[in-house]
Amino acid sequence: KPSEPFEWASQLKKTMEKVWGIKSFRLCQEGVCNANMDGRDILCVMPTGGGKSLCYQLPALLSPGTTIIISPLLSLIADQVLNLREAGVECVMLTGTTSKQEQNEAFARMTTKPGPGGRGKEIKLCYVTPEKVAKSKRLISVMEQLATSGRLARIVIDEAHCCSALGHDFRPDYKRLSVLKSLFPKVPILAVTATLSQKVLPDLLKILKLPPLCDGRAANSRGTCAFSAPLYRKNLHYKVLPKATNAKVAIQEMADWIREHHPGESGIVYCLSKKDTEVVAQGLMEASQGSIKTGVYHADVADAAKERIHRDWKRGKLHCVCATIAFGLGIDKAETRYVVHASMSKSMDGYYQETGRAGRDGARSDCVLYYRHQDASRILSLTLGETDGQSKVHDMLRYAQDITTCRNKIFGKYFASSALLSSEKGDKSPENLDSPCGHCDNCCRSSDQKQTLDMTRAVWKALKVAEAVSRAGGRVTLSGLADVVRGLAGGTFPVVQPSKAQSSETRGAVDLEALCGGKLILSKERTETLLLDLVLNGYLQEDFHATAYAVNVYVQPGPKATRYTRLASG
Ligand code: ADP
Ligand code: ZN
Repeated sequence: KPSEPFEWASQLKKTMEKVWGIKSFRLCQEGVCNANMDGRDILCVMPTGGGKSLCYQLPALLSPGTTIIISPLLSLIADQVLNLREAGVECVMLTGTTSKQEQNEAFARMTTKPGPGGRGKEIKLCYVTPEKVAKSKRLISVMEQLATSGRLARIVIDEAHCCSALGHDFRPDYKRLSVLKSLFPKVPILAVTATLSQKVLPDLLKILKLPPLCDGRAANSRGTCAFSAPLYRKNLHYKVLPKATNAKVAIQEMADWIREHHPGESGIVYCLSKKDTEVVAQGLMEASQGSIKTGVYHADVADAAKERIHRDWKRGKLHCVCATIAFGLGIDKAETRYVVHASMSKSMDGYYQETGRAGRDGARSDCVLYYRHQDASRILSLTLGETDGQSKVHDMLRYAQDITTCRNKIFGKYFASSALLSSEKGDKSPENLDSPCGHCDNCCRSSDQKQTLDMTRAVWKALKVAEAVSRAGGRVTLSGLADVVRGLAGGTFPVVQPSKAQSSETRGAVDLEALCGGKLILSKERTETLLLDLVLNGYLQEDFHATAYAVNVYVQPGPKATRYTRLASG
């Protein structure tokens, strides 16, 4: 914060009002515009709908030369270009669908000096797709010409989190954007995104070759300026509800919840698979006797139908869209009153971004996750091939299993925004870990709902048995282990010998009576949840085995188990 206004301050305001009719900045827009005008590398995290485009469009109009914007979504690009042209701004787009002629014209305009002798007015903004940057040598050479003549004002990378394979939306073409800083070392980069986790932040800086974040207190630090709008949105009420094991019952309960809390209002139900969206949509219609008008949206729905569903939902003709994550980028309805997850997402990044589509208008909205621990192994098997997939699912599971920590504190800790915001003193929002939000399910749980159970004996049995089975060369599933812990699995435990054929089981390898006799009065549900907690905390670990039909998930002692069993038996 300067003691005096920047020399460009009044010009920013004037242009903002003239071109967009906007009178005052929102969130961190002013800071980003100032850093922009100062020629800095910038990282900007702002929720969708927060107004990221103004952060680069406005400075682009006031800077000499052309700003290149790399954006993944054609419809978004087309929309922005249309709006800018209506406002009288000179801009072009170069995508896979741009005609040769348009392309030639755009390149010619960018490489010819504007002015009285030149051809027409200077192009201020040029939108391109990441594929174009990765594949078009001509585009790179035009950018080189612009840079040499000092007229490449800035490179903007929209949805910048797509660069990192550690995030939830990695795109290979984005990774190739790492050449930009090497090719154009003097041209500032602005990376914008709506979600950035603590893990992705350093990876993103590395991939884009951006300098380390600057220290706001050091006067002349030229590092990357980072800005983050606060994550915390007080109109969103987060909660996790138990999901019935029976699929029909689960859908009935969801329909009842929607009818009770949001009758006739708009919402989204996110499902894990295309098939699920159809089953859930059908189920919701039936369970609500048609009162929840529901549509289906996933990658295989024809484009025309997609557009129709989106339009009907925006107009309120459809109440609810059952969708996969394909219902995402470009979806923007301010009065979305609920985002329900029929199954958890594959990562916290995904979950936060999906739920963030609720309540853009600022009015009270609900974000509900239906959780049963049985979903864990399904999601784990879906993410098997992905870099870091398992640890991302574990973060999500920790969120789902947590019944004490404020949901907004969990988000604050997980996402980088708390780190980026920490220099702003006096910010008391929950993500800065000062105070709980007071309105999520965990903040609202009454004390008798928080009563604790002594699980020592159950934990001790689980670890003992897991260890014995693993030593005998066998395998046990989480659910099988739960039965043993509860004392239901008889005197001996079947052990699958890995050396023999898949189906051959030998009995009697582990004597359970001798190991840990006696029944425990503990429900299957509670026991399995406990075991999953042991997995999430490193006392047990998963062991994946793919067969021709499915991926089987077994549990075995985790890194922290040995110390505990020794202590327990001693
Ligand atoms: P994002 O790219 O972050 O999803 P947009 O840039 O599309 O969001 O902006 C969302 C909407 O908010 C647009 O309609 C834009 O005109 C409006 N908007 C942006 N900044 C402001 C502001 N400072 N005041 C009022 N409206 C704004
Ligand atoms: Zn809370």
